[in-house]
Amino acid sequence: MALELDSITVRYGRTEAVSDVSLSVADGEVVALLGPSGCGKSTLLRTIAGLEKPTSGVVSWDSADLAGVPVHRREFGLVFQDGQLFPHRTVAGNVAFGLRMRGVDREERDKRVLSLLELVGLEGYAGRRVTQLSGGEQQRVALARALAPSPRLLLLDEPLSALDRVLREQLAVDLARLLREAATTALVVTHDHDEAFTLADRVAIMSRGRVVQVGPPAEVWSAPVDVETAKFLGCTRFVPGSFVGLDLERVGLRATALRVDPDGLMEGTVLERVHRRDHVRLLVEIGGAEYEAVGPMTEVGDRVRLAIDLDGVARVG
Ligand code: ADP
Repeated sequence: MALELDSITVRYGRTEAVSDVSLSVADGEVVALLGPSGCGKSTLLRTIAGLEKPTSGVVSWDSADLAGVPVHRREFGLVFQDGQLFPHRTVAGNVAFGLRMRGVDREERDKRVLSLLELVGLEGYAGRRVTQLSGGEQQRVALARALAPSPRLLLLDEPLSALDRVLREQLAVDLARLLREAATTALVVTHDHDEAFTLADRVAIMSRGRVVQVGPPAEVWSAPVDVETAKFLGCTRFVPGSFVGLDLERVGLRATALRVDPDGLMEGTVLERVHRRDHVRLLVEIGGAEYEAVGPMTEVGDRVRLAIDLDGVARVG
C-alpha cells in the first residue's frame, strides 16, 4: 500500500475542514477526491502534501509516518489549478526545475525534459516562453514539471478548472491516458464528476469534511450512498423503484432517465421543451408529477410514450 490516511482531522479555529478521513491510494492507482466546493478536498490534499498539519490522524507512505517529513522531502509532485509556472523561464526551464534542484546533470536533464514534453503533447515547445502559451498548454507544462523528478505520488488540485469546457474535456482524456502511460500514483481533487470519472480508478466522495463513499466510478455512479450524494451526481428526482420497474425502495432519476420512445411503457404529456447542446430536453407530466426527459422533436401538449434509460437511474442508499 502506498499512501495511507488514518483518521485525519484538520481544524481551522472552530471550522473543521476535514473530519476523520481514512483513505488509501495503492501503488499505480489514480484516486479522485470529488465533492462540492468547500467540502474539504483541498485541505486534505494540502495535508497530504505537508502544506498543512493535521489536527489529529496520521499520513503515511509505505507505513512510514510522514509527520516529520517536510514538503520537499516527501517526493510528491504538485499541480494546482493555475499551474503556477515560473513566468521568466522557458517551457524547458520550467520542466527542468525539479531536476536541477536535485543536481541531475545537464545531458540527462535535457533528455528527460524532451521525453516529458513528448508525453504531454508539447514536442517542439522547449524554447517557448510560458507566457506565450494557452491555458491548456500551461497546464501541460505544469504537469510535465511535476512529473519530471518521478514523484512517488502526484497530487493534482483542480488541474483543469481554469480551462474552458471543451478544452477541459479533451485534456481530461489526455491526462487520464498519460497518468496510465507514466504508471503514476495520483490523487486528484475535483468538483466535476465527469472529470473524476474520466481520470480515476476509484472515486472518494467528500461532503462537509468527510469521505462518505469510496468506489470505482461505475459503482458510485449507479449506487450513490445517500440522497445528497445522488443529487451531487446529477439525480434530480427520487421515486420508488417500481416507477422504473425495479424491485428497489428508492431510485434517483437523472435528466437522461426518461427518453421519448414509441415502444416505451409510460405515457406522459410534454410541458416544456429546451434545446441543449446535443439533444432536446423535455419536461413531461406523468401521473400528475413533472419529470425531465430526453426527446426528439415534440410539441408542447403532445402525448408521448417514454422508455427508461438505466444509465440515468441510480439506486440510492
Ligand atoms: P474544497 O477544496 O472542497 O473547496 P477547502 O478544503 O478549500 O474545500 O475548504 C474546506 C473548509 O475549510 C471551508 O469551509 C474553508 O472555508 C475552510 N478553510 C480552508 N482553508 C482555510 C484556512 N487556511 N483558514 C481557515 N479556514 C479554511
